Amino acid sequence: MHLIDIGANLTHESFRRDFDAVLQRARSAGVERMVVTGASRESSEQALELARAHPGVLWATAGVHPHHAGDYGADTDALLRALQREPEVVAVGETGLDYFRDLSPRPAQREAFERQLAIAIDLHKPLFLHQRDAHADFLALLKTARDHVPAVVVHCFTDERRALFDYLDLDCHIGITGWICDERRGLHLRELVREVPANRLLLETDAPYLLPRDLRPQPSDRRNEPMYLAHVCEVVAGLRGEEAETTAANATAAARAFFGIGAPGGSIATEPKDATLSSERRGSTQSSEGMSSST
Ligand SMILES: [Zn+2]
Repeated sequence: MHLIDIGANLTHESFRRDFDAVLQRARSAGVERMVVTGASRESSEQALELARAHPGVLWATAGVHPHHAGDYGADTDALLRALQREPEVVAVGETGLDYFRDLSPRPAQREAFERQLAIAIDLHKPLFLHQRDAHADFLALLKTARDHVPAVVVHCFTDERRALFDYLDLDCHIGITGWICDERRGLHLRELVREVPANRLLLETDAPYLLPRDLRPQPSDRRNEPMYLAHVCEVVAGLRGEEAETTAANATAAARAFFGIGAPGGSIATEPKDATLSSERRGSTQSSEGMSSST
């Protein structure tokens, strides 16, 4: 099984003490590649550093999470644009809206989101997006950008059926985390995950957050890490009525196409990314295609 963790917060301080061991354990579990989430100015720069230090294993995103949207100024915008020009940086984000925790004022969240949508449009990069309790405003802003960017993933999807189909209608990818393993709050997701076409389903840990609740034994420090993506994949496969190998192969192919990253053992894809993504997009407008094969 070969998996790509499309959302791992490996710049988090909890990974400093044993970073190489974390990567080694991930590799042993079949999680050979990871996209390190940049969620602030600092973590975006650190994510790029990690990706540079681990070519072919780690890639990075660069963005400002809605929690930090209050800090978004002209200098932030310039920094993010510069980071997007680095070959290891494969998406704009994490950006979006979070009205659940409201750590930044909502107008500031919307402005930072719009400015990062503009970066993705100008530089023709995929978007790595966060939405919590903000579906209506998020969808309205996303719609203005969707036709002008190559690909979009709504990461850590936890919302309701209506939101899922709104995103699929816009030909977005859906990121599924270990949230789905939570028997208290992931119940509706366990049904919805069957509705995601195989070529639109991406897997992620969101480590060190969202340790799968049904994992046994639970690590004593409660830290999630990329190796547990194999467990998330098995749970998702069971819910979709697929072999874990099938779910893994489809999610890995989808992640590679999404981010333009190479096959295991290979390097960064050399084909023109635009051509790959736009031809895939044309094919995927019949988005029930993947669904029928998975149910
Ligand atoms: Zn998020």
